[in-house]
Amino acid sequence: MNRLAEAIAGQGGKRALILSTPHQKAEAERIAASLGPLAAGLFHDATMHTPVDVTERAMAAYNAAAADCVVAIGGGSTIGLGKAIAYRNDAPQIVVATTYAGSEVTPILGQTENGQKTTVRGPGILPEVVIYDPELTLGLPVNISVSSGLNAMAHAVEGLYAQDRNPISSMMAVEGLRALKQALPQIVNSPRDIEPRSEALYGSWLCGTVLGAVGMALHHKLCHTLGGSFDLSHAETHAVILPHSAAYNAEAAADALKPAADLFGGSLGGGLYDFAASIGAPLALRDLGMKAADLDRAAELAAQNPYWNPRPIEREAIRALLQSAWEGARPR
Ligand code: NAD
Repeated sequence: MNRLAEAIAGQGGKRALILSTPHQKAEAERIAASLGPLAAGLFHDATMHTPVDVTERAMAAYNAAAADCVVAIGGGSTIGLGKAIAYRNDAPQIVVATTYAGSEVTPILGQTENGQKTTVRGPGILPEVVIYDPELTLGLPVNISVSSGLNAMAHAVEGLYAQDRNPISSMMAVEGLRALKQALPQIVNSPRDIEPRSEALYGSWLCGTVLGAVGMALHHKLCHTLGGSFDLSHAETHAVILPHSAAYNAEAAADALKPAADLFGGSLGGGLYDFAASIGAPLALRDLGMKAADLDRAAELAAQNPYWNPRPIEREAIRALLQSAWEGARPR
């Protein structure tokens, strides 16, 4: 963590506000102690989907500590809080990323207020410095490792068929998928082994970079709707939906998706489903708390505000996709 002190100083920082979730409070305190006076305060209430009221409390903590930068230690929830602060006051952000969601390398901030999740993009949102330390991920629970790894893979799969893709983003997407396909089963078998942890962070960096570089489509829109309006857990929702969104687009984007289909074998949707099942990922929306009665409204919301997707967004087909995902059926 010597690199962290260097990174703070490199941003001209003298007083960092350290951010974490309640779950990672002890880790954040340990890191804050190692920073000495560079750590001006700690805010450990980061939470999923970046609620604006939490950001307002964190802004008050930032001002009370007379901080001049933020250090986010954690996954997408904590990183989202750092981005939300920077969006409001332009604070330099240093991120120590500890999951595979990839938010640390995107200029995208999702926030929720009054049950609505909105997304903003902007250069000031992109963290200035990212530190990957696989030691800090050895304790990432296996189930979160699996679902956040599949969340990263979803960025890559959608990046492959993005309208504004380029040869470099596609190369990064395929390499990210390869790395995570290799690392996740090894993490499941041996969570404290540093090699696959390191490989997974590499894959996550690649997939996150793709997310930051090109546009996303059906998969991210569906997960955004399910997370924002039905309060489903972010990474697990991505894990359940990925095989189904890939199957929905498999034919329309067959050429672009071929490298992914080659990696996972057979039909991409079925191959991704089998991979997810083999690493113990959640497979059904009903297991995440989604109610059958809400599927119609979810399909309605996901088909609203038309957006580009390789295959047209048809309400009935989306409703069928959601039904399969709710039941946990294997897509063909
Ligand atoms: P998370 O940040 O919510 O972390 C999940 C849980 O795991 C938390 O309790 C956290 O404290 C704990 N945890 C994290 N790292 C740990 C570690 N190494 N050891 C032990 N415990 C650890 O989960 P996530 O999936 O990384 O992030 C989800 C959030 O990120 C969502 O709000 C989502 O919208 C956002 N996100 C944003 C982007 C973007 O580009 N804007 C991209 C991906 C995700």
